[in-house]
Amino acid sequence: MAPAILLSDAYPKDDIANTTAEATKTLDLTKEKDVGLMHRSLVELPYEVVSASGSYIHLSSGASILDGCAGAAVAIVGHGNKEVLAATVAQMEKVSYIHTASYVTSSAEDLANFILEVPPGGFQHGLEKAYFCGSGSEANDAALKLARQYFFEQGQPQRKWYVSRRQSYHGTSIASMSVSSNLPRRIPYQDILMPNVAFVSPAYAYHDQRATETEEEYAGRLIAELESEFQRIGPENIISFIAEPIVGATSGCVPAPKGYFTGVRQVCDKYGILLHLDEIMCGMGRTGTYFAFEQEDIQPDLVAIGKGLSGGYAPVSAVLISKKIVDVLKAGSAAFNHGHTYQSHPVTCATALAVQRIVRRENLIQRCALLGMLLEKMLIDAFSDCRFVGNIRGRGLFWGIEFVKDKATKETFAPSQHFGYNVQQKAFKLGLAVYPGAATVDGVRGDHVIVAPPLNISVVDLGKIVRLLKEAYTQEESQIATL
Ligand SMILES: *Cc1c(COP(=O)(O)O)cnc(C)c1O
Repeated sequence: MAPAILLSDAYPKDDIANTTAEATKTLDLTKEKDVGLMHRSLVELPYEVVSASGSYIHLSSGASILDGCAGAAVAIVGHGNKEVLAATVAQMEKVSYIHTASYVTSSAEDLANFILEVPPGGFQHGLEKAYFCGSGSEANDAALKLARQYFFEQGQPQRKWYVSRRQSYHGTSIASMSVSSNLPRRIPYQDILMPNVAFVSPAYAYHDQRATETEEEYAGRLIAELESEFQRIGPENIISFIAEPIVGATSGCVPAPKGYFTGVRQVCDKYGILLHLDEIMCGMGRTGTYFAFEQEDIQPDLVAIGKGLSGGYAPVSAVLISKKIVDVLKAGSAAFNHGHTYQSHPVTCATALAVQRIVRRENLIQRCALLGMLLEKMLIDAFSDCRFVGNIRGRGLFWGIEFVKDKATKETFAPSQHFGYNVQQKAFKLGLAVYPGAATVDGVRGDHVIVAPPLNISVVDLGKIVRLLKEAYTQEESQIATL
């Protein structure tokens, strides 16, 4: 049974655009002094967090921030959950480290079984095994190597190419960044990244679907482009195609047009190319189904998961592997030629298992789908008439708002104007965290913010996110109007 969700809780009677009481108070946002830690920026210091609970983060200055983006779409069960704490401590009391060459713990085995289990009537994903590592980048690296080994063992060592999409992010290691196109993150390393990667167009209807095209025709055009890229490289030389079912941080919660992923699956199958989906940000219930690809009705060969897997309580990610790949390895070398010191870590797996048990017991994915419909309605009501809001898109509790300078031409703001970043900063000053993004459109131009709260956020707080974000946007809009 999904919990009842009352629309009236989120929707105040008054106009949602009105300045709210929350928005008028001034937060103390003092930052910490610089010390030995290499922060993300050497000049701009972060805020010190002293505690966090539920959907709120508490700063050392005394200010509380409503976590409207769950970090980076990570904290799916919110912060400070005591049940997760207890499961973590209990595992540490039993055993905190083993080396997987000789040993295993039940926490890793139980987590694998739990996340791969298909409930009665559930979606048949065809995934048979889970390989646990410590970060999303590591999970994608492992998937890239596993895909290569799959062909190597079948006597096809000439398969060396990976095909990915522009406007995508798959990680920060050399290999995972090589298949990413997120330009700002790549620039200093361009010349040392893997050369055997080709890129095709993103599935990005707002900018790329032609006025004369239906959604299906647009999808068809993208599939044709993918197939001709396969032909150009020589399909017998390609290992895998890599894609995020819903593009996350790079362009802000962009779902693919109808029919795109079924077409991708068919073209990959035609040439024996593996389909590697990156669900690190959009998976684990975030879009209202357990996997985002369920809504595309396809079975991938490899899936990388991360962020929501442990909800941020431990650094743990996984590659999920289809039967087809497991069978080839079994018949060949019988081992994945890869390993990490911390793979299948007893404690991080126990922690993630506790998080996943909460998600299942509290029906948080079903709740996410319902709350997602409410969030969609609230965002459209609040933002669709705004002068600089070009597009509102997403699924479940994973929504992006894209800002443009001109709605008619979809012309973007100058990157130096930092429109999206300014909206995020203004929201923060009002006590709301959202995830900002720039270079949305092509790696240089464009602005967006992402709303991706914990899946167990209250309906009241969901309404508050929309009101505070609208207030921040309105402040930024009026500043521009008076320039
Ligand atoms: C965050 C992310 C990654 C990288 O994960 P890390 O844990 O930061 O290494 C890869 N792909 C996608 C889609 C992501 O959102």
